[in-house]
Amino acid sequence: MKLSFLGAASTVTGSKYLIEHDGQRILVDCGLFQGFKNLRLLNWQPFHFDPASLDAVVLTHAHLDHSGAIPLLIRSGFRGPIYATPSTIDLCKLLLPDSGHIQEGDANFANRRQSSRHHPALPLYTEADARNALTFFKPLPFDKSINLGSMKLRLRLAGHILGASSAEFRTAKGSLLFSGDLGRPDDLLMRAPVPIEYGDTLVIESTYGDRAHSNESSSDALAKVITRTAARGGSILVPAFAVGRAQNLLFEIFQLKQAGRIPDMPVFLDSPMAIQSTSIYQRHRDQHRLSVAQCEGMAKVARISRTADDSRAIGQLNYPVIIISASGMATGGRVLHHLVHMAPDHRNSIVFAGYQAGGTRGAKLVDGARFVRIFGEDITVNAEVVSLPSMSAHADATQIMDWLKTLKKPPRQVFITHGEQVAADALRWRIEHELGWSATVPLLGQHALIDNF
Ligand SMILES: [Zn+2]
Repeated sequence: MKLSFLGAASTVTGSKYLIEHDGQRILVDCGLFQGFKNLRLLNWQPFHFDPASLDAVVLTHAHLDHSGAIPLLIRSGFRGPIYATPSTIDLCKLLLPDSGHIQEGDANFANRRQSSRHHPALPLYTEADARNALTFFKPLPFDKSINLGSMKLRLRLAGHILGASSAEFRTAKGSLLFSGDLGRPDDLLMRAPVPIEYGDTLVIESTYGDRAHSNESSSDALAKVITRTAARGGSILVPAFAVGRAQNLLFEIFQLKQAGRIPDMPVFLDSPMAIQSTSIYQRHRDQHRLSVAQCEGMAKVARISRTADDSRAIGQLNYPVIIISASGMATGGRVLHHLVHMAPDHRNSIVFAGYQAGGTRGAKLVDGARFVRIFGEDITVNAEVVSLPSMSAHADATQIMDWLKTLKKPPRQVFITHGEQVAADALRWRIEHELGWSATVPLLGQHALIDNF
């Protein structure tokens, strides 16, 4: 079997792995590169393979760094099935058309300002491309096996966000497991990743491969920053991934309010997609830990702003509020308008609740930038900027190691992906020294030949 690492290799985004085995060509994940410009430019390169020659795509979960290039794949000739869990498909119905819409908006903005070298600037893909791509999705429930040529495919619960799975491939001779994005066993909302059953070869993520989540609970940290900001008369802006982080935040805030641990200030959920994905969480209760009452509490704790006018109106309020708005790394979306408005005021706080990929505005703010460029203007940052990695949806290094230890028989090899070089290599070191297994950090475009599969 030949396994090629075509994305998320020595970086976090752009997940894309090609399996070639026994006449079958299967692509696992087809994500967008995000963050640094030299990575984003890779989205415009042709695929390293002929998309029409693929037999199937397997999608581990809905986040755009795993799913966001699927519309391009269809536009480039792929016509086969895209297997994903039913809840991943529900979330993709929101995320992919929205991504197309954002691409079109970016191209229009570039054309108005003539800021692109290309005339006219074209979108990477359109909302219509994304809607067309959705017709190729085929639901594959968790733990149900299907045959792909001589391989059996099974999707296993990985926690992280609704629908997130590890993808397990088995033949008569061996097995190959992609962790996908691995959730944390102590996540407030999502269930813990299930133990590994088969994994002769492992491809594992390493987003936090060099870090430990803080011992301070995320609710304590959140309560502190909300309370001190409100005390100085400021508002709190939380850029949050519409799918996953927004729901965790709503639930944390709901609990803090119930316990009287934060002032009873208004909360606004300013992301149409987060609003819809909250109701998808309510529909798929078997995958998370919340009761019906808790789901309702989560959904009702925030006032909802649906239209752009609603969104602008929140910006005009002159008393302390909490605003949750996408995108999570402040790369686009409604959160940008709030940043323009809120970042210059020292009374406010900007709270990051998830991983910030290098090169994004989120990463710059967390690193202490005093200015960020938004809509072509430099915006001064006087607000307090707080990062709460303890709210992350990813397992930390020790939690990844603990998950690996659920394997009964040592694997033949481990490939470490989906992490910056430093994080991936730190995890490689731990796996080699603490477990005695052979581990490799592949580079983008590398491939491995795997026997016994
Ligand atoms: Zn993810």
